[in-house]
Amino acid sequence: MTQRDLYEILGVSRDASQDEIKKAYRKLARKYHPDVNPDNEEAEKKFKEIQKAYEVLGDDKKRQRYDQFGHAGVDEDAQHGGFGGQDFGDFGGFGGFEDIFDAFFGGGFSGGGSRRQRPRRGSDLLYRLELEFEEAVFGAEKEAEIPRTESCEKCEGSGAKPGTSPETCPTCEGRGEIRQAKQTPLGQFVNVSPCNACGGDGKIIKDKCPECHGEGKVVRRRKVKLNIPEGVDEGNRLRVAGEGQAGSRGGPPGDLYVEISVKPHEYFEREGNDIYYEANISFPLAAIGGEIEVPTLEGKAKLKVPEGTGNGATFKLKNQGVPTRRGRGHQYVKINVEVPKKLNAEQKNILKDFAKSMGEEIPDDKSFIGRVRDTFGGKG
Ligand SMILES: [Zn+2]
Ligand SMILES: [Zn+2]
Repeated sequence: MTQRDLYEILGVSRDASQDEIKKAYRKLARKYHPDVNPDNEEAEKKFKEIQKAYEVLGDDKKRQRYDQFGHAGVDEDAQHGGFGGQDFGDFGGFGGFEDIFDAFFGGGFSGGGSRRQRPRRGSDLLYRLELEFEEAVFGAEKEAEIPRTESCEKCEGSGAKPGTSPETCPTCEGRGEIRQAKQTPLGQFVNVSPCNACGGDGKIIKDKCPECHGEGKVVRRRKVKLNIPEGVDEGNRLRVAGEGQAGSRGGPPGDLYVEISVKPHEYFEREGNDIYYEANISFPLAAIGGEIEVPTLEGKAKLKVPEGTGNGATFKLKNQGVPTRRGRGHQYVKINVEVPKKLNAEQKNILKDFAKSMGEEIPDDKSFIGRVRDTFGGKG
């Protein structure tokens, strides 16, 4: 079964804001609602499809996954109950409509027309930025190109053709909702629904702005300068005020959040503000001691390895870690003593002599049988 694109189902662009998605969903859900289309299988199917699309696109996290992985990213979610365990197959009772009744009669609409026409802040945007290891440590100046909705300049965000202005909706008289009293066996029941004529806005645009087609907003790709401070780390989120989506009806824009991810380094590891490095040294050096050179974030440093350093010993290079406003972290150097894998006869003899001088007898490199003979029948 091929699945339709969720954006296509709701008839919105991939850049649509949450507001636009919600609006599109409500409009379509109203049109295909089983209450409005009794015994219409086609409408019911559409209604389910619309609801499912909104479950994903109306949720920033799920939307992101869908953008990245397509249906695979969100269907798996559905298997794990990500769709709230809703049964899309059962439209027999009110239970199945909880979501849509919430949308229509819940908080968002209960305030009536006045609430709708208040300026609204634009939504926040999230941008993922991958940094080199050093960039995260020392900070960087980056530039991001961010598609976002902006208030249309031509109509100053009103959506009406320049020279005209939006008019009060005659159907709902600007309230944005329609109230209908309904008699039921249980008594009178007031049905409140958003006005179809104006889509709940309370206003109607007769002559649409040619630039934004009446939306009052346009999508633009904007270059935003990002000043990444020193010391940022994987998963940090930086806020850039006012660089999110445009607000509605004169509301302020949302914010842009920049989520940092850091590429791994060839040989450094980072934990908090400390840097870890593993240095390989030979065992004569470990035994005798000496000075070695180790890389640091800012070049090279000399490290004194004391006489008799064991494998795994760790030394601290003070203040060679990640700089932060509260001071710098340290660099830790872990010593890895290398044991030579291949020695020639002469080298072996030198080591045997060395062992002897330490009071240790290293047996000759014999076969297994030779060693058994040594142990059980041998002459000392
Ligand atoms: Zn416009
Ligand atoms: Zn209206």
